[in-house]
Amino acid sequence: MRKGGRLIAVLVFLLLALPVLAVKPKAIVLFYADDLGYGDTSVYGQRKVLTPNLEQLAREGCLFRDAHSATPICTPSRYSLLTGRYAFRRPGTRILDGDAKLILPVEGSGESEVTLPVLMKHAGYRTAAIGKWHLGLGAGEGAIDWNGEIKPSPREVGFDRSFVMAATADRVPCVFIEDGRVAGLEADDPIEVSYDNVERKWPDETTARTNPELLKAWGRPSDRQHDKTIVDGISRIGHMRGGRSARWKDQELADRITTEAENFIRESADAPIFLYFATNDIHVPRDPAPKFRGKSGLGIRGDATIQMDDSLGRIRKALRENGYEDTLFVFTSDNGPRVSDGYEDGAREAWADENPSAPYSGGKYTVFEGGTRVPMIVAWPGQVAPGTESFALLSQTDFARSLAKIVGVEVPSGACGDSQELSYVLLGQSADGRESLVEQPAWGPWGYRKGSWKLIDSPEPQLYFLDSDPAERNNLALERPDKLQELQRELHALIGHR
Ligand code: CA
Repeated sequence: MRKGGRLIAVLVFLLLALPVLAVKPKAIVLFYADDLGYGDTSVYGQRKVLTPNLEQLAREGCLFRDAHSATPICTPSRYSLLTGRYAFRRPGTRILDGDAKLILPVEGSGESEVTLPVLMKHAGYRTAAIGKWHLGLGAGEGAIDWNGEIKPSPREVGFDRSFVMAATADRVPCVFIEDGRVAGLEADDPIEVSYDNVERKWPDETTARTNPELLKAWGRPSDRQHDKTIVDGISRIGHMRGGRSARWKDQELADRITTEAENFIRESADAPIFLYFATNDIHVPRDPAPKFRGKSGLGIRGDATIQMDDSLGRIRKALRENGYEDTLFVFTSDNGPRVSDGYEDGAREAWADENPSAPYSGGKYTVFEGGTRVPMIVAWPGQVAPGTESFALLSQTDFARSLAKIVGVEVPSGACGDSQELSYVLLGQSADGRESLVEQPAWGPWGYRKGSWKLIDSPEPQLYFLDSDPAERNNLALERPDKLQELQRELHALIGHR
């Protein structure tokens, strides 16, 4: 649809749909992709990775062009999404080990902070976290008893139901935790986990160094971080032993968590639901099910994206088939792309001529736009105009207050301090997004957006005007010292001296 036609369609739609927010959706689903870049799917212009379910979602909803994760890495982005706070507000919020302690506020603990699922519970939703967690578990660093009740876990931060991986697929333990206990664990084979910085934790531990013959061809590490315990033919970060009956099979991982999501939808039997579905795709190690292998034309990384799209299609189908047509569905990613990230899985070669951040620069770990500007599509029948686009600046940090507004619950004072109430923007009904946005780095200089201006606050500062320079190539710091100082002043006021 041409822009003029699209605008008319939106106006007509708004006239028909108003007043909005008079009703709340029967279901809210946050489908959170992992390490999926702005230019990784056909709905955002990738030509070899066809994602028909995402395209269908875009036909039914609003596709965002300037939506951002809070940071270019996993844990801090997830923290911000679930608390409505910038991750730097909580010191030490970084990529967590698999045995790190929980970093979210526990429900009823008297903390002033609150989580998004707690807000949804207050609005009457049955809540679930399914898939990747990576927000810590338990109350002490490295002190989790994997063989008993793990507490606090997602249940204690507002999720009625949970079926999660402790951290990432490239970190031990490689097991699912179901409502606070390791699923499928046998008592005579207890789990031990260690993140000690040693080559080999136990004499009988098999690692990429000791037993390379046990590795799948695409499970070979490309760095010294990923060369520890081998599970399912792939070496991981960290050491693990025991729990053999509970270990996941990587090629079954997407199907398993998608099935759990389908079950949650079915079992909720018509109750209002809030589902936080955090897929492992397309994070490393990439080991998609055989039926997706070779389907993308861009190697194992493209195939994992097609697997992700299949999960999305299955969840939407389950919603339709179980009386949840009235769903506010949000699809987005926790950070930008990284082609090769710890394994020799062929991605580097397959993507040699592709830019998964296109048309932006950078990706995961960086504060170029590709680090945090992520794909995002929102659909809600009768509320979000079908087939539309939004150029509004929006942060996932804003989900907390915006969704709270949509479901009609009040955010406690002092909570969700960096979250802006932008429900009309989230629903594609207003283009009046954020004025500014902090792009917190994994390390190195900070990024800051104000309108179309972009600051990278390095010792030799960089200033870009994204409307004419989306790839951040033409540094205007010397030409526009006024703008440079304005953005620096605002960024420093927000983050303090770091
Ligand atoms: Ca990630």
